[in-house]
Amino acid sequence: DIKKVNESYFGSYSSFGIHREMISDKVRTDSYRQAILENPSLMKGAVVMDIGCGTGILSLFAAQAGASRVIAVEASEKMAAVATQIAKDNDFWWDRPQSEGNINNAGKMEVVQGMVEELGESMQIQPHSVDVLVSEWMGYCLLYESMLSSVLFARDQWLKPGGAILPDTATMFVAGFGRGGTSLPFWENVYGFTMSCVGREVVQDAAGIPIVDVVDDHDLVTDSVVLQTFDLATMKHDEVDFTTSVELEPKLGDSTSNSTELRSTSTWCYGIVLWFDAGFTSRFCKEKPVVLSTSPCTPKTHWSQTIITFREPIALALGNLGADGSTAVGTDACPARRIHLRVSIARGAVHRSIDISLETAGV
Ligand code: SAH
Repeated sequence: DIKKVNESYFGSYSSFGIHREMISDKVRTDSYRQAILENPSLMKGAVVMDIGCGTGILSLFAAQAGASRVIAVEASEKMAAVATQIAKDNDFWWDRPQSEGNINNAGKMEVVQGMVEELGESMQIQPHSVDVLVSEWMGYCLLYESMLSSVLFARDQWLKPGGAILPDTATMFVAGFGRGGTSLPFWENVYGFTMSCVGREVVQDAAGIPIVDVVDDHDLVTDSVVLQTFDLATMKHDEVDFTTSVELEPKLGDSTSNSTELRSTSTWCYGIVLWFDAGFTSRFCKEKPVVLSTSPCTPKTHWSQTIITFREPIALALGNLGADGSTAVGTDACPARRIHLRVSIARGAVHRSIDISLETAGV
């Protein structure tokens, strides 16, 4: 029942805790702030539409940056009312003229309550007349509960030809993680006792289930590769779902690994880590391009990373050995040279969920 699902989805955005968490995520909010405030040639005098304004924070940045009109769209009734109050309290509110009077709305924002897909006439703006579309639509693993389709809808309906979209790219990355990325080390030594049986059970139970968690870059055992790139300005709606294949090559031990690791000739890969970057590229942000990264190698964000544990770990050769063809590749006896990974991500049958399917092979 899509109506019920939407009610609970927008209901969840009515709790202030979520908005506090998002606003407090400095990596996230500063990236948007920089992209909006430090690209004056894009923002000055622009008509801006903010899809899913929440508290209105991005709209306030846009008004501050000198936009001529900011239309903040929000489906949650409660948050639309809150954004309206906040705009008023900060003197950025624009009262719509009741008649055709020519009220100066320069630098002011207005809040439109409703799902962007359903607004039509009540938007009081001509189709294809928005200069800049801004939205923070990204979900866990980029696409979980993501509003990407709503943003694409708004793009097709309201954005001028050649208009800007912030961010304008989104890139998903993948890498393999080792033992350190699992619960095994924790349960191995608990106040001097081994509880490894628990660790093994936890790893077994996690197999195949995407889990949002922070991963340390030292726990990556392969290189990081691009899984998929979305160009928000040009992509088609059905490109949100994709299937792709990539090869993960072992990452050779760096100087921070301990000596046992340096001497060993193979390592185990227990699963994969997924994360994304959102790009405010120089295509639209000419003065100051910005990248918002949720990588394990950059300061953490509220998105963390998403990990998927394999049913069986895959042994990876760290040197020139492995894969002689005599035994099963990717096992202790015959470590693989690389991992072949085929990933499909598609919007799920349950509204706003995603289905991830994964095939792996040590080769
Ligand atoms: N822009 C704010 C909030 C981002 S959270 C910030 O950066 O802090 C996303 C918001 O979009 C939520 O408040 C949610 O209710 C709203 N939203 C999601 N889908 C929407 C849709 N289709 N139409 C309008 N609002 C939507």
